[in-house]
Amino acid sequence: MPKHIISGLRYLAAINLTKQGHTQKEVANKLGINRSTVSHYLNGRNLSIKSIEVAKVITELCPRDFLLLTYALLQDTNKTRTIIKACQKRKFKASVKNSCIGCGICIDSCLMKAIKLNELKAEINPKWCCGCLICVEMCPTNSIEIEEVED
Ligand code: SF4
Ligand code: SF4
Repeated sequence: MPKHIISGLRYLAAINLTKQGHTQKEVANKLGINRSTVSHYLNGRNLSIKSIEVAKVITELCPRDFLLLTYALLQDTNKTRTIIKACQKRKFKASVKNSCIGCGICIDSCLMKAIKLNELKAEINPKWCCGCLICVEMCPTNSIEIEEVED
């Protein structure tokens, strides 16, 4: 079953990435699959309706569950962030307070690789933040705020 769920998630991501204007080759590279598989997805072949339905339910879970479940299935950070980014409709705004001490714990805890250090202060790229709130829990100085914004 996990393989079918992964196929369902890849299918949804392939459809969305194609809608965003990516070529089949680009979609294949981003998802780490071959081009003929992308072509099959786009033509609705080789995939059960059940796999797609289950994958849709996963994309509608809370951001943390969507992220952690996808990562548990794929065991690959880059492919996970590609699927989350392609399938998540919600958007988030992130800010880091001056109380940040630049310890880097949030950077290591962010599966979306959305955080970097800039002049010893954490900086969060909202393009990649999926709103999982793991960094908020991990920060020893309570310096991170994540807020959902309207699309
Ligand atoms: S975990 Fe908190 S204190 Fe540490 S770098 Fe990140 S925001 Fe700053
Ligand atoms: S909420 Fe924090 S840990 Fe989660 S994706 Fe955004 S920056 Fe990364």
